[in-house]
Parts: sequence; structure tokens; C-alpha cells
Amino acid sequence: MTDDALQKMQFLYALRSSGVTDKRVLSAMEAVDRAPFITGIFNTRAYEDMPLPIACGQTISQPSIVGLMTQALHISPRDKVLEVGTGSGYQAAILSRLARRVYTVDRHRKLVIEAREVFDSLGISNITAITADGSFGLPDQAPFDRIIVTAAAEDPPGPLLEQLKVGGIMVVPVGQSDAVQHLIVVRKSETGFDYDELRQVRFVPLLEGLGKDV
Ligand code: SAH
Repeated sequence: MTDDALQKMQFLYALRSSGVTDKRVLSAMEAVDRAPFITGIFNTRAYEDMPLPIACGQTISQPSIVGLMTQALHISPRDKVLEVGTGSGYQAAILSRLARRVYTVDRHRKLVIEAREVFDSLGISNITAITADGSFGLPDQAPFDRIIVTAAAEDPPGPLLEQLKVGGIMVVPVGQSDAVQHLIVVRKSETGFDYDELRQVRFVPLLEGLGKDV
């Protein structure tokens, strides 16, 4: 077996042993190479199940967490999805294989520009990446079938709850920024919201306003 094939097998094994069992999610993650989303010295560690540093002091999430969050969204091919926290663009690229259209926003313009370049280089055409404070969602494109927040909020942001369709699902890490957070699955119904706790996680904080590089 080549090194590449072995690394890929170990990558998929790590996902399955963390509880990522949905076939569509696994095949999306098999199809999207994580390496192009990591520039610099950490690039060689793309297939390890670890969060890694990216530009602007942010991190690309651990693949098994990306898998679990994606799985919890139960995305259908007709869905319009909002991601808050583009970061490297890796999570958005996974979503783009499962959904009809993905809107992804980040407060750092540099990250949005770099992510767009990676999407273009991979021929991904159903992602719109926008520089914005995602706590307010994207009112122009709302409502969304699914919303994923990849930075930790103290509470699920109100505008995002509003911009979720009835029948929609949102996944969001909730808790104090420097402590352990809980990954929450929110389901919106005619009568209100149901909350489920998935597991403990650790994400960078959801911050107000745009990043300083803008
Ligand atoms: N999903 C990313 C990882 C995200 S790291 C990936 O796949 O690589 C969290 C990101 O959330 C950071 O890039 C950070 O800039 C962004 N972020 C934090 N607060 C935000 C806000 N209010 N609006 C938009 N993006 C925000």
C-alpha cells in the first residue's frame, strides 16, 4: 500500500471510530482533500485527526468534529446551508458536496479570499463566501434549511435562530470561549426550538465585528 492510501485509510478509520457513520458524510470527506486548505508547515499533517493553525490566529477544525457536525445536520441535496466561520473553507467544501448551495461567512476578509481561491482551484461552484459578522446571519439569503456555527457562542445567536426555516437544524458550539463548550443541535418547529447536546468540544470564540485585517 502506498503512503497516500495508508494515510487516507487511517483518516477514514479515525472518523468512523469517532462516530461518523453516515455514508454520504464519509464519502464527502473521502472526496475532499484537506491538504489544500492548510498552507505552510502544517500542510504535511493534513490527514491527522487534529485541529491545526491557519492564518489570522484561527484553526481548521479536527476532521472527526467536522464529520460529527455535518452528520448532525442531516443535509439533503436540496438544502441551502449557512456556515458561520469559514476559516480555511474545509467545512464549507464538505457541505458543498451534500447541499444545493452553501453560504459561508467569516469576519476575516483574508480567510474569505483564500478560501475562495481554494474553492476555485478545486472546481467547487456552489459556495458563496462573504466577509461579515456572522452573528447576524445573512438576512438577504435567509431563511436557511441548515445552519452550522464553527466558533463558540455564549448562546445560540438570536438572528441565526430567526433565519432557520421551520423544520430546520442548526449545530452550534455553546459555552464560554476559553472553557470547554457543548455542541448543541437545535431543531426549529412550528411551536419553538428543541435542543440536544451532542458532546463536549473546544472552538475559537465567536467574536463581534470584522477582523483587523479588513
Ligand atoms: N470552519 C472552519 C474553522 C473555523 S475556525 C474550517 O473548516 O476551517 C472559526 C472561524 O470563525 C474563524 O475563522 C473566525 O474568524 C470566525 N469567526 C469568529 N467570529 C465570527 C463572527 N462573528 N462572524 C463570522 N466569523 C467569525
